[in-house]
Amino acid sequence: MNPTEDPRGEVCWGISDAYGGRTHLVLLNYRVALCAMPVDTRYRDRPSERMICPECAIAYIAAVFPARAIAPTHHHDIRLRA
Ligand SMILES: [Zn+2]
Repeated sequence: MNPTEDPRGEVCWGISDAYGGRTHLVLLNYRVALCAMPVDTRYRDRPSERMICPECAIAYIAAVFPARAIAPTHHHDIRLRA
């Protein structure tokens, strides 16, 4: 296992004044969260009293752990046995 950079260096947490029930993940130079919700207040550490936005969580995991294609052509590999 190789050491990796801390992924938190690229994101922070954000809360929208219009809908404050969730905390969102925000790229550092953006004013909109990964789920497209505009954020008004940012935090370095996750606010523990608010629910993590599920859409942000899924977008973050999909970006950090990209899917690998099992078959490059996406075609079924069918071989006939004689
Ligand atoms: Zn979100």
